[in-house]
Amino acid sequence: MNWLNELVSDDQDEYESGPAEPPTESITCVDCGGRCHLLTHPPEDGLWLAGDVVAYRCSDCLDRWDLVLMPLGE
Ligand SMILES: [Zn+2]
Repeated sequence: MNWLNELVSDDQDEYESGPAEPPTESITCVDCGGRCHLLTHPPEDGLWLAGDVVAYRCSDCLDRWDLVLMPLGE
């Protein structure tokens, strides 16, 4: 994925994407209360972007959960 190589444009009609809260390593499963572990690997440069989707897998019921990263500070 080379999308980070694109120059950031200041055009206002561009989707505004900025740094995001980094996802936690695990979350609590909504269904069974078990632990869901992060499946998605961090970007090579470690920079998460708002709107990125990360996936978790529950180690108990094996459900998959997708989370959309929120912008920093929200
Ligand atoms: Zn579960």
